[in-house]
Amino acid sequence: MIEAAIVSLAALAMFAYVLSPLRSGPRRDIPSTSMRAEDAEEKKRAALTALIDIEEERSIGKMSEADFDSLRAEYEAEALEALIELDGLGGAPDVDQELETEISALKTKMTCPSCGSLRQPGKACAQCGAPG
Ligand SMILES: [Zn+2]
Repeated sequence: MIEAAIVSLAALAMFAYVLSPLRSGPRRDIPSTSMRAEDAEEKKRAALTALIDIEEERSIGKMSEADFDSLRAEYEAEALEALIELDGLGGAPDVDQELETEISALKTKMTCPSCGSLRQPGKACAQCGAPG
C-alpha cells in the first residue's frame, strides 16, 4: 500500500507540473479576469486529479465500479464546469476535446506499457520493473 501512496503522490506532482503552464511566469499584478481564470484552472486541475485518483483506486480494488461511476460523473461534471468557465474567459476552445485530450495524454504518460499499472512517468515500473 505504501507503494501505491508513493505512486499516487508522484502522479499528483507530475499532474500539477503538466497542467500548470500558467505558473511558470513571473507573478504580476493580476487583473480580476486572470484571477478567475486561475481559479478555474485550479478547479479543473483538482477535478482531473481526482479522476485519476479514483481510477487508480478502482484499479487496485479499493473502489467498487458503482462508486467509481458515480464519483467519475461528479468529477467530470466539475472539470467540465471549470472548462466552461475557462472557455467563457477566453480559455479552452473545445471543452470536451480538451478534457479528453488531457486525460488521455496523462493516462498514456502514467500507464506502464508492460503491465498497465500507473507509474511515475520516466521511471521504471514499480509493479513489473519495466523501464520508463
Ligand atoms: Zn509495469
